[in-house]
Amino acid sequence: MVYKEIPRFDGKAAFAFLERQTRFGPRNPNSTGHENCLQYLNEYLRQQAADVELQPFTRTGYGETLSLTNIIAHFQPEKSARVLLLAHWDTRPRAEHDPDKSKRDQPILGANDGASGVAVLLELATLFREFPPSVGVDILLVDGEDYGKEGDRDLYLLGSRYFATHLPPNYSPRFGVLLDMVGDTFLELPKEQNSVQFAPDIVDLVWGTAKTLDIRQFTNDEGEEVMDDHLPLNEVGIKTIDIIDFNYPDQTNRYWHTLEDTPEHCSASSLEAVGVVLANVLYTQQP
Ligand code: ZN
Repeated sequence: MVYKEIPRFDGKAAFAFLERQTRFGPRNPNSTGHENCLQYLNEYLRQQAADVELQPFTRTGYGETLSLTNIIAHFQPEKSARVLLLAHWDTRPRAEHDPDKSKRDQPILGANDGASGVAVLLELATLFREFPPSVGVDILLVDGEDYGKEGDRDLYLLGSRYFATHLPPNYSPRFGVLLDMVGDTFLELPKEQNSVQFAPDIVDLVWGTAKTLDIRQFTNDEGEEVMDDHLPLNEVGIKTIDIIDFNYPDQTNRYWHTLEDTPEHCSASSLEAVGVVLANVLYTQQP
């Protein structure tokens, strides 16, 4: 059921959070943009949440030691019924799909691949402070999702793996929702297949809510199977889905992992579509 008094999720405000992150430049591990953005996200969330935890860790990367940090914001930490929302805040250190071969070793801006999911979560954080939902929420911004070279699975999903193996004591949220690449102006969200396999009821809840609200970016199609931050969580028993539009902007023209992943190719209305659905899901949870 969908309540009338769901707080309004503002896509323009979310888009401002997307732009704010891209103004730090690329936010790949060990870069200045990464360091500055961490400080910004930590400060912003501290103003919204009851408690913010930083979870620092290191990993050996390609000829460098990576300093990585997950950010975890707890809303209403006293509540035992909880929902986990997550997105990766790091961006890719190399644009290996750029059409210009000479630019493929440059870091990307990650307006969609990185900033978009975080932007929706920052705007939700703003709502949660003003209008506390009946369940507790944890917002997890993971680091080091997009560091590994293609095919090198060991160096992907670093933050979500670290979180999944260093969970807060007795942590058992009802479910998790991962947002990744949700800013595309031509947003289309089919059902990602690992989510359908591991958390079919949560896929039904989210896509069903979108259908009730007539939010058509969520489609009934079967999506691809994406290796993403939801997998380590499902492995430790936290049912987690991935809301992702992998075809950015479409199947033939790709900005994914190129220098074209910029705010001009993202839109406030796409962020709003995702934010409104999530707000409805969250604010209709029974305590
Ligand atoms: Zn990526």
